[in-house]
Order: sequence, then C-alpha cells, then structure tokens
Amino acid sequence: MRLLRSGAISHGFLVSRSPLAPHAFIVAPLWGRTMSLEPIGRGRTVSRTPAQSNHPPKKIAPVLITHSKTDIVTFMNSQSVKYLILGGGPSGLSLAAALLRAGIEDFLVLEKESSAGGLCKSEEVDGSPFDTGGGHFLDVRNPKVTDFLFSYMPRSEWDEYHRDSRIDVKGTIINSPIEANIWQFDIDTQIEYLKSITKAGCNMGDPMPERFTDWIYWKLGKRIADDYMIPYNKKMFAEDLDSLGTYWLNKLPDVSFEETLRSCLERRAYGKQPGHAVFLYPKKYGIGELWRRVADSLGDRLLLNTGVEKLDFKTRTVNDTFSGEILINTAPWTDFQSISGLDEAEMDAIHSLRHSSIVTEYHPEMLDTKSHWVYYPDPVLSYHRILVRHNFCPGSRGYWTETNLTRYEKNPDAPAFLNEYAYPMNTIGKQEKMAFLLSSLEKYGVYGLGRWGEWQHFNSDVVVERAMALAEKLASS
Ligand SMILES: Cc1cc2nc3c(=O)[nH]c(=O)nc-3n(C[C@H](O)[C@H](O)[C@H](O)COP(=O)(O)OP(=O)(O)OC[C@H]3O[C@@H](n4cnc5c(N)ncnc54)[C@H](O)[C@@H]3O)c2cc1C
Repeated sequence: MRLLRSGAISHGFLVSRSPLAPHAFIVAPLWGRTMSLEPIGRGRTVSRTPAQSNHPPKKIAPVLITHSKTDIVTFMNSQSVKYLILGGGPSGLSLAAALLRAGIEDFLVLEKESSAGGLCKSEEVDGSPFDTGGGHFLDVRNPKVTDFLFSYMPRSEWDEYHRDSRIDVKGTIINSPIEANIWQFDIDTQIEYLKSITKAGCNMGDPMPERFTDWIYWKLGKRIADDYMIPYNKKMFAEDLDSLGTYWLNKLPDVSFEETLRSCLERRAYGKQPGHAVFLYPKKYGIGELWRRVADSLGDRLLLNTGVEKLDFKTRTVNDTFSGEILINTAPWTDFQSISGLDEAEMDAIHSLRHSSIVTEYHPEMLDTKSHWVYYPDPVLSYHRILVRHNFCPGSRGYWTETNLTRYEKNPDAPAFLNEYAYPMNTIGKQEKMAFLLSSLEKYGVYGLGRWGEWQHFNSDVVVERAMALAEKLASS
C-alpha cells in the first residue's frame, strides 16, 4: 500500500488527494505494472518505405525518370494513386472506407503511428480497455453516420448511457452544466450565483464580446467565471485564454437566466443540455475497437508507420515517394517538417495554427460515484477531468485523468499516454486563416478534412459525416 500521487502542478508541488473528496488523502493499492509514458503522435516518427511497411505497395508508378542510384531507389519505391490520404484517424479512415464503398480502390492512407485510430484508440490497461486519447463517447445525430458506424460495430455491441457528468466547485460536487444545476448548492451560494448572473453582460443588454474570457463573464457572470469557467479552461488549454475567440462556443450548453432561475425554484435542471446527453459505449471493448475494424477493412491500402515528413503541395508528393492526383490531409498541418510549393500567405496561415496536448493517466481505485466523468477547476490539481471507467466500461475498475501536458508531472507508477495533438486552439482570426488556406489549397487538388485538416473541435461523428460528404463529392467529380 502506498499513498497515491493524485495530482501535480507544473512547478513540482505534488498533491495527494482523492478526486471525489479532494480534501481527503487516498491510499491506493500499489500499481504493479509500470508503463512508460508512451508518446502518441510524437517521437515515434518512423518513415518507412513501402517495402518496409506492414503492407506491400499497392501500385508502382514511374514518377521519376533519372539515372542516379538514389533516384532509382526512389523510383522503385514510389507509389502514385488517385487519392492520397494523410492520417489514419477517424477522418482518414472514414474517407477511405467511404471511397471503398463507392467502388473507388485507387487510394492510399499514410499513417504515422504503428496503429490507426488517432485520438480514438484504446489499449488494454489493468485488464480492461483504456481510451488513450481521453474520454470518448458516441453520440451521433446523423442516421447515415449511425448506419455507417454500425456496419462495422453493430448496435448490439454498444451500451446506452444517460450522461452523468459533474463539477467539483470548491469541494461541492454538482451536476454539469453549472448554470442549470446551481440549485444543488446551499441556499446562500445559490443567491450569490444568481445575483452575479443578473449582472452578466448578456442580461444587461451588452453586445457579445469577441474574446473567450470576456464572453465567459458576459454570458455567465463573475461567480461562475471565477469559480469554474476561467480556471477550468486555463487548465484544459493551458493557454492565454485571451487569445481565444468566441466563434466555436456553440459547443457549450446554452442555458438562459430564466432557465437558471426556474431550475433553482423547481430544483431540477432546465435549458439546452450539453452534448452526449445520451451516449453509446462499447459493451466489451474500448472506443478504439470501432476504428480498429474500420482500419482492418482497408487492408493494404493503409500504410502504418508512414509519417508524412516532406510534402510538396504543387506536385502532391509525400516523402519523395508517394503522390496523389488528389491529396486529402487529415493530419496536423504543423506536423510536417518540410513543406514546399506554398506561397508566403499560405505558409503564414499554417504557422499561425496552435494546438494543445494532453496526457491521460490511469489509476486503479474504485471511486464512490455514479458519474461518468467529473470536471476539476481547482488549479491546485494538475488534471482537469477524470473519467470513471468502472461506470461505463462493464467489468472494469479504476479511472483515468486528463491533464494538459504543460501541467503534467510523470508518475512512475501510473500508465500514461501522451496525445501531442489533442485540441486545435480556437484563436482569434483562425477561422479566416483556415478558410483562406483551404480554399487556396483546393486549387492544387489538396483538401483538408477533420479535426486537424480543418483545425476545428470536431467530434468523431462530425468527422465521419464530413468524410462521407467529401467521398461523395470526389466520387461524383
Ligand atoms: C480529450 C478528448 C475527448 C474527446 N471526446 C470525444 C467524445 O466523447 N466523442 C467524440 O465523438 N469525439 C471526441 N473527441 C474528438 C475526437 O477525438 C475527434 O473527433 C477525432 O479523433 C477526429 O479524428 P481525426 O482523424 O480528424 O483526428 P485524429 O484522431 O487526431 O487523427 C489524426 C491522425 O493523423 C495521424 N498523423 C499525425 N501526424 C501525421 C503525419 N505527419 N503523417 C501521417 N499521419 C499523421 C495521427 O497519428 C492520427 O492517426 C475528443 C477529443 C479529445 C482530445
């Protein structure tokens, strides 16, 4: 038995507190199996030629006519396809699978890692699935997307859950979203919060601000901003929040003051609830199983361990080896070490893109809660969210934390996974830069797709929808 280090902040001050009773210490059984921090999306960039890859080359095409020894080697290994897809996460895999369904076989997917699935991968940890990219739940609105996904993993293989997510506000744990659940605080705190909301800009008729931080005060009032939204978002993004815009806030729940008031009077939540109000999670697997199956369906058209390092946009050639008539990028634009063929404005758009990284870390304790996940705004704790695995993954135990990389201190006893590209940052001006970049690149036959290709906080169901639409467009052109 030993004291579990349940949190750490960047300057090395370690905190040992239980996530659900942060003022109590927890004593945990010693985690026997130590796994090193495994970089995902960083540090394992092995660019193998097709001959070295897990799958044999699909096509050999003469893209170079030369006589030097090096060029002859390149010639022998070069592959030219109609559609070259960069990145084998949900976006790249869905696009490839949708092309295949449309009868198009002339494509290749290049994936940097040794397995596909991107942020939606799972590993077995402590005898059960662990979603290495953080908490991933399926909540699909579009029936076409549902049919597509269920054709790989039928509905009978999923369990349905009604979201139970909570927030620890200074030691009081209430349901999320906070503005619909203020009624769960004691009466004095409710009055303070309500007074603060009445003075919020949106209730005083002030115009909506352009910056995210200003928007939080404008929309929710000072108390919710100071106690939850500002510290929580600082922890999650570890970014100067003032650099973020407001154009992406349709992702957040929208609860009016009247609904907040009504919820306090009637002691139940009112207002538009956040995403994943009802979600699916695999009965026997982690979320990664779905994407493993989609990847399997692609056979040798998916090349693993094939990171894009060098990219010529004009000729749509990758690593001097692969070329496509059409190139679809789903990998982070900023991950390519060498880019050619773009003008200054296009390069400037790429250089302006920012992202944040998170680490997921496993802890074996059973927590005394029914929540699926809990948010932690407390700046003393390094992590911002825990996912209570035993409440959505049958037969499992334990929970995992999500921590921004800049706040993370390695715990040698806890299995942990790094996701270098976790959140595309919604900085002011990004929308315009991305719109310019994407329309500019289309002229060269290059498309951006998905969370990184479009640099948007898309959930997995949305990237599938967009991939299906792009496949339809490509198939009909
Ligand atoms: C913490 C967290 C929680 C989330 N929760 C949910 C949820 O509950 N439900 C939901 O639907 N969605 C959720 N999402 C969003 C979901 O992860 C994304 O929608 C999905 O992963 C997007 O797929 P993608 O293929 O666009 O990007 P990714 O999954 O990031 O895939 C990109 C792929 O590109 C590869 N790649 C990177 N660089 C290169 C390179 N140089 N060359 C070749 N390949 C490269 C990567 O290895 C990866 O496989 C969550 C995301 C995060 C971070």
